[in-house]
Amino acid sequence: MTPPPSSAVPANPVEVPQARVSAAAPRVSWLQRTLRLTGGKIRRFYLHKFRRSYIEEQSRKREGTCGRCAACCKLLFRCPFLDESSGLPTCSIHDRRPDNCRFFPIDPRDLADRDLIDPTNPCGFSFPSQQRPDPRASAHRADGPHHHHAMGD
Ligand code: SF4
Repeated sequence: MTPPPSSAVPANPVEVPQARVSAAAPRVSWLQRTLRLTGGKIRRFYLHKFRRSYIEEQSRKREGTCGRCAACCKLLFRCPFLDESSGLPTCSIHDRRPDNCRFFPIDPRDLADRDLIDPTNPCGFSFPSQQRPDPRASAHRADGPHHHHAMGD
């Protein structure tokens, strides 16, 4: 079964309830941030390639809608296909976007990653049944399905 796609740029933006606004930005160094965002990209790539069942499982736990903030288009670097010229973030390859974009966020670790980019404007998606990782954790492990049990599910 193919999980429903998420997206950095849906057809219509939605308002994100204030109750979902994240806590203060986690204090991490440039190096920690770079390591985390790099690890996150590798982890998502690995999950898409080898752990589709985990992604499908997570898609059933995910709630909400993309708020079109484009934070996930700026993880580690700004995506060259992101067009913000109209003021509304738009993906110029939306129909051909890679799985890393199509299914973001997979789990709360992805939300923690995007919060490093835009901590006060939260992602429109959430995982109410799963805890977020400690924002001070230094790096990801690319073993998603194994240690998601440690996050309370
Ligand atoms: S971070 Fe979340 S709300 Fe923002 S563009 Fe990405 S999926 Fe959409």
